[in-house]
Amino acid sequence: MSTPTIVTFAEGAVDGDGVVTRIEQGSHGTVVVVDATPFHPVDHTWPDQPGDSGTITSGGRVLPVAEAVMAAASAEGAFAVGGDIPVKRGAEGWTWLVGHRIDAEVPDGLAEGTRVRLSVDETRRAGLSRGHTACHLASLALDLAVSDLWRKDPGTDALGNPDFEGRANQSSRIHENGAVDEYRLGKSLRRAGFDTETFAATLADREEQINSRLAAWVASGAASFIRTEGPTIVDRRRWHCDLPEGHAAILCGGTHVDSLTEFSAIVVEFDLSDPQLLVMTTTATPAV
Ligand SMILES: [Zn+2]
Repeated sequence: MSTPTIVTFAEGAVDGDGVVTRIEQGSHGTVVVVDATPFHPVDHTWPDQPGDSGTITSGGRVLPVAEAVMAAASAEGAFAVGGDIPVKRGAEGWTWLVGHRIDAEVPDGLAEGTRVRLSVDETRRAGLSRGHTACHLASLALDLAVSDLWRKDPGTDALGNPDFEGRANQSSRIHENGAVDEYRLGKSLRRAGFDTETFAATLADREEQINSRLAAWVASGAASFIRTEGPTIVDRRRWHCDLPEGHAAILCGGTHVDSLTEFSAIVVEFDLSDPQLLVMTTTATPAV
């Protein structure tokens, strides 16, 4: 049985050396697995942040990596990639790996045991990190901006405010310098005690509150960082941020900026054209 891939993206690494541990061809294309990688893979159960792209270099040949993905190998010899993995993240009996999806022929000479150089597309990574941090900040600001609309206690978010995000968020899609979040405003949220009518009637106000909060957070230049419980891809990781309202820590597998000084602005926009579905689009502008 193989050993789990060691990941270094949580420390901000974008380059590293590794040894190829397997090369698998399948419906997913060609996937190269190494013992250690700086690539951040897309999560197979909550695919909010896309996997890194970049290159693998071996013996002077540069192979393009289309996207880093989760992979898992079972004790019985099964190998699965991304959405085909039949078990939950971290399940016992499986070795958890990072695969590098290659859109090219694997050259002769690249095989199990080959030492390779791994390089992440830094510009794209930086954009995705800004998008992911902005996404978390926008949802914390959203929780704050609707905190008066709860008639029952929905539980608390990372800043101790009523957890609208945890109750209503149904999908989160991160891209370079931004994110799109969808919130279900249906019957079950009303039953949980959320006043959707007042929310809809005061939408523009709420949006403005979020945006002025985000401006204050960007101006604070707060530190933002990741803490891990271990070096493998399935060890738990948390994003931390020292906001003026308090220290926020959120379970998160993604990549993030080192400081809110990396933004010049973060702005959200609401779309409630379907009254059952709030769409929040977050746009981050990098600092120059
Ligand atoms: Zn996250």
